Amino acid sequence: MKAYRDLSPSPRTIMTPGPVEVDPRVLRAMSFPILGQFDPEFTALMNETMGMLRKLFMTDNEWAYPVDGTSRSGIEAVLVGLIEPGDKVLVPIYGRFGHLLTEIAKRCGAEVVTLEKEWGYVFDLAELESAIRQHRPKLVAVVHGETSTGRIQPLEGVGQVCREIDALLVVDAVATIGGIEVATDRLLLDAVIGGTQKCLSVPAGMAPVTYNKRAEAKLLRRKKIEQGLLPPGVGGVNPPLHPIQSNYLDLSQLQDYWSPARLNHHTEATSMLYALREGLRLVLEEGLEARFARHRLHEIALVAGLEAMGLSLYGDPSCKMPVVTCIEIPPGIDGESVRAMLLEQFGIEIASSFGPLKGKIWRIGTMGYSCSRRNVLLALGALEASLIRHGHQLEAGLAVQAAMDVYK
Ligand SMILES: *Cc1c(COP(=O)(O)O)cnc(C)c1O
Repeated sequence: MKAYRDLSPSPRTIMTPGPVEVDPRVLRAMSFPILGQFDPEFTALMNETMGMLRKLFMTDNEWAYPVDGTSRSGIEAVLVGLIEPGDKVLVPIYGRFGHLLTEIAKRCGAEVVTLEKEWGYVFDLAELESAIRQHRPKLVAVVHGETSTGRIQPLEGVGQVCREIDALLVVDAVATIGGIEVATDRLLLDAVIGGTQKCLSVPAGMAPVTYNKRAEAKLLRRKKIEQGLLPPGVGGVNPPLHPIQSNYLDLSQLQDYWSPARLNHHTEATSMLYALREGLRLVLEEGLEARFARHRLHEIALVAGLEAMGLSLYGDPSCKMPVVTCIEIPPGIDGESVRAMLLEQFGIEIASSFGPLKGKIWRIGTMGYSCSRRNVLLALGALEASLIRHGHQLEAGLAVQAAMDVYK
């Protein structure tokens, strides 16, 4: 008798802001045999992955590679590398992940200044600009797409202001990369962190990052101190005083590992690298513009269906994130009970939210491979049926019809 059952996950339609469904091509890629990490066949795959990441991040940066670990590892690697203890860091917060940036920056020893916006809204450029000029931080860290509230922070113009005061601009694009344009070079973003299990539709376990020469200069100065090649306090206008505190997440070592020198650091996560490479191939085959347009189309269909059901969307519509749709749970409806019915009876997963929004909104993700006509129509039909079962008054059938009209 077997002690544990054979693994057989139930088929699911995943309509959350991650992890999302994965293209079968990516799953197949993960089942190929292992190659040694210095096998030229494998290092060639690593190089191709870097090339594809540059296209994804829309950058000519030399450095674009994955950190092994979930997206949070990429955020932590960037912040621990670019923040020295005592550095002033500005974090505009408009949802949960802004708090994460704040927490990590504090652990890096930063003197953190936060700017808070009521959840459901984002900052306008003038607010960011005046805070940056007033506080003159060494680094500004901001979330591009805030999955907790479904809002997107426009970044036009922020990079210029950061350059004027010589601050580095770090962007958490975990939830937007591969679904919404992240124009690293055009927007003068110094470091960007992406995610795999959201719009890229690759399993969780890697964090693609990119950074430019301005960011690299800081990493390299700190590396020299660590190696004893530079006394603390020497080198440049803002002399660094501290080596990078992390070993595993030290980007200066990671870039050596990804460089032609292939200096040993960790062991690259072989199967995840296969998965990321295949996921990126799918993105580039579809084309970035076409992929962004697909995400917008299914958002429009989903929203049409939800509105036809008489549901209200949460948050300021002018900054709605196209890949996450937040819905106010109607009064008198138990949101968790509806989610459970969707999962148990239809195999469909939608998300709730965090902190002040817990129990108040549902979040539906339309990301990557999960972002399809089939999934949108199924989710609308199932939500409508579940709401009726929960005693909510609505006219059956309108939601799916409204979405079908969009697709007509
Ligand atoms: C999901 C998410 C993260 C965290 O990613 P993990 O892969 O869970 O570590 C960070 N930032 C944003 C905006 C996210 O949506």
